[in-house]
Amino acid sequence: MIEFMGLYPEELKEKLSAMGEKPFRAGQIFSWLHKGASFSEMTNLSLALREKLAAAGIDQPVSIRETRVSQLDGTKKFLFALRDGNCIEGVLMHYHYGATLCVSTQVGCRMGCRFCASTLDGCVRNLTAAEILGQVQCANSTLDGEKVHNIVLMGSGEPLDNYDEVVRFLRLVSHPQGLNIGLRHISLSTCGLVPQMHRFAEEKLPVTLSLSLHAPNDSIRRELMPIANRYSMEETLDACRNYIEKTGRRVVFEYALVDGVNADEKHAEELADRLRGMQCHVNLIPLNTVKERNLFGVTENQVRAFLSVLEKRHISATRRREMGDDIEGACGQLRKKVMEEKP
Ligand code: SAH
Repeated sequence: MIEFMGLYPEELKEKLSAMGEKPFRAGQIFSWLHKGASFSEMTNLSLALREKLAAAGIDQPVSIRETRVSQLDGTKKFLFALRDGNCIEGVLMHYHYGATLCVSTQVGCRMGCRFCASTLDGCVRNLTAAEILGQVQCANSTLDGEKVHNIVLMGSGEPLDNYDEVVRFLRLVSHPQGLNIGLRHISLSTCGLVPQMHRFAEEKLPVTLSLSLHAPNDSIRRELMPIANRYSMEETLDACRNYIEKTGRRVVFEYALVDGVNADEKHAEELADRLRGMQCHVNLIPLNTVKERNLFGVTENQVRAFLSVLEKRHISATRRREMGDDIEGACGQLRKKVMEEKP
């Protein structure tokens, strides 16, 4: 079965020609699919063509299985169903600068970060570009008038471990005949796959790169993230510097504060030394405690103390707002809970 939504217009043209259809239909079909339409809704196509398309492939590869809405801030957490029975999560947050959707790029994850719920059962499979896009279509279908304006690739999965489909997704979602979401409104978060970070810098896609740093030095980073055994912090920061140089965009460092591990003021000092002179921003967040692992978050006072060290050292930093705290907003938590409730 062809996943039509994952094809570029040129590829869609070729497929149509091969099916004995007029290539100019590709433009119509492309814009229908990217509006979230099913084949049966494509009313400017003949019924015969719609049936032929449905026999050859898939229109919308993702559907919403469950939605939870936060009473605190209106954040929506989706459990999306895929056609093979797997499910993934997405979170839609309402910020003053527009609706922001967090999408997944894999079913599960194989990076093994000790604090992350998404990786507990490993990686089941990569998502296709169409399945990443389908999450955006689903979120749009729940919005009145407004559309998803920003996307963060921070759901489950390691985007750079699914490189080709993620790059295809980025080109499709920003396509002028499709959703046309500006690449500058998209953030890609990685645990630090250094070779792929270098390759990604050459794609000339002006997305914001976020690096999950979570430590001021290699030894703490290795305690938390297996990837730190493969690539040193210096190599990883070099890949960030290269990204800044090639794209002209600042890099965002994600730093989850873990009580007794990386959250002391001396760690903030060390971090400031490492990041000095870099065009970057640090996002601090108290760790969301995952009960399976013995790692705990910190108090507001600890966040403030850490932040103030960075500020004193002129490192741009903020405390990331937590959204949807009452609905298992954090990465991997809802999927896990639902899988446990409904085995
Ligand atoms: N694999 C990518 C993107 C998905 S994770 C990456 O590692 O960046 C999205 C972000 O959530 C990452 O910064 C990740 O480190 C963070 N995260 C995962 N579990 C967390 C937890 N329990 N508390 C706080 N942040 C967490």
